[in-house]
Amino acid sequence: MQSCPAFIDGEWREITGVDKTPVYNPSRGDVIAEVPLCTKEHVDLAVESAAAAFPKWRDTPPVERARLFFRYRQLVEENFDKICESVSREHGKTLAEARGSAYRGIENIEYACAAPTLLMGDTLENLARNVDCETVLQPLGVCVGITPFNFPAMVPMWMFPLALVCGNTFVLKPSEKVPLTALLIVDLLHKAGLPKGVLNVVPGGRESVDALLTHPKVKAISFVGSTPVAKHIFETGTRHGKRVQANGGAKNYVVVMPDADVDRTVEALSTAAFGCAGERCMAGSTAITVGKAADNVLPSLVKAARAIKVGPTDVKSQPDMGPVITAQHRDRVLSLVESGEKEGGKIIADGRGVKIKDAPNGFYVAPTIVDLVQDSMTIAREEVFGPVLNVMRADDVDQAIEMANKSSYGNGAAIFTNSGKAAREFKNRVKAGMVGINVGVPATMAMFPFTGWDESFYGDLHIQGKEGVQFYTQQKVVTTRWFGDNVGDVWKK
Ligand code: NAD
Repeated sequence: MQSCPAFIDGEWREITGVDKTPVYNPSRGDVIAEVPLCTKEHVDLAVESAAAAFPKWRDTPPVERARLFFRYRQLVEENFDKICESVSREHGKTLAEARGSAYRGIENIEYACAAPTLLMGDTLENLARNVDCETVLQPLGVCVGITPFNFPAMVPMWMFPLALVCGNTFVLKPSEKVPLTALLIVDLLHKAGLPKGVLNVVPGGRESVDALLTHPKVKAISFVGSTPVAKHIFETGTRHGKRVQANGGAKNYVVVMPDADVDRTVEALSTAAFGCAGERCMAGSTAITVGKAADNVLPSLVKAARAIKVGPTDVKSQPDMGPVITAQHRDRVLSLVESGEKEGGKIIADGRGVKIKDAPNGFYVAPTIVDLVQDSMTIAREEVFGPVLNVMRADDVDQAIEMANKSSYGNGAAIFTNSGKAAREFKNRVKAGMVGINVGVPATMAMFPFTGWDESFYGDLHIQGKEGVQFYTQQKVVTTRWFGDNVGDVWKK
């Protein structure tokens, strides 16, 4: 069993005397660690340490803060395989998927390394006679990150590198389902030379989150997870005077036009729906086929889904897809598929009965496609977060956009077409913050904000990119008058 300590004030601390919850290797169903459910007392220690470290860290020149992150990037690269194996082991991603996601995390470190440029303000000389004006970006203080299970390395890296280079200190509360990778990447930052207290980790669940949300010394909260929890975080955090950015769940529509390139669309759709076992907030969870597109793509899509090799990801010969996160989650996915069938859907690829000989206790669902899904069905409305693709039918692009826009979520949407007109209509009118045109998973990279809309996001400033910098800083406007009798005379000469 791997230990799961907290990291407080620059020290690893085993937490005793509290309840614990298991961490699984979902490929096998084995318990690989037990997470201590830290309490308010541990949160207080972590926040106090971060608050004490803030003044010195804030006064560390941005160039020096950025240099530390250049070293960190190097260490992450050197330990890349170890990080990816840890992601794969505790989450169940294939190694290829783990690598892809860890690279997305590294890109956030790279973006953060541009701190000296990102933190520049504006200046206007002679705002009035002998008066200059400038804006400066200053850090907030103690920031908090609360992360979900589905990206154990990437999502924490969406948060702490940028928050820290901006001059804040940080407390991370990783998902209790996958806390081990977070410990690894935090340890590397410590090894890169981060001063004690600047970054702390408190493993735990609801109690530690609620203590963070209400702590008077916490200034800002970044959250990624499901919609009901995102809403709770936003409401509680803002009620306690904190800045909050809270990413929620999703239900992403992929419109397939009759003129779409069949092979490329099938490949992209299959990856969007079944990649990472569908456990991505940008997964393509509903295909809307327009007119003849259903006949064009569905036969090959079903074939592609059935060909996906499912199995344990902790082996040399890698499968195409791994397990879902827990037995409980697998059962929820299966019951949603069941409800789809009962409410009138037709299962055209059925992954429910999959048996993995080498890993009989793992949490598996194979790729599943539910055709003839209607708006009113439970599976159409709820986020499934598993390798399940719904198929809905539309007569034209207008109807397809209308169907997609009924969703209460607004994370991502994509269209596959060769028609510029259809693509342009879709881009303009679809109600989602991240849009793909012939791209199945239009998840944004570090330099662009991760722009969920509606119930996929609560807050104003999104995670990543320039909005991320704005979130982790506050602007100060400084107006300066320069006294002196002959000020300005030099210009007259
Ligand atoms: P979750 O909401 O269950 O948990 C996320 C975090 O919140 C965890 O750290 C957990 O400990 C904490 N938490 C859970 N319940 C809580 C409660 N009642 N009070 C306080 N804290 C609580 O999410 P998950 O199952 O870990 O992750 C999957 C979800 O995350 C999906 O809905 C997925 O769409 C979403 N997600 C969204 C994005 C995005 O950017 N929009 C990215 C990744 C995942």
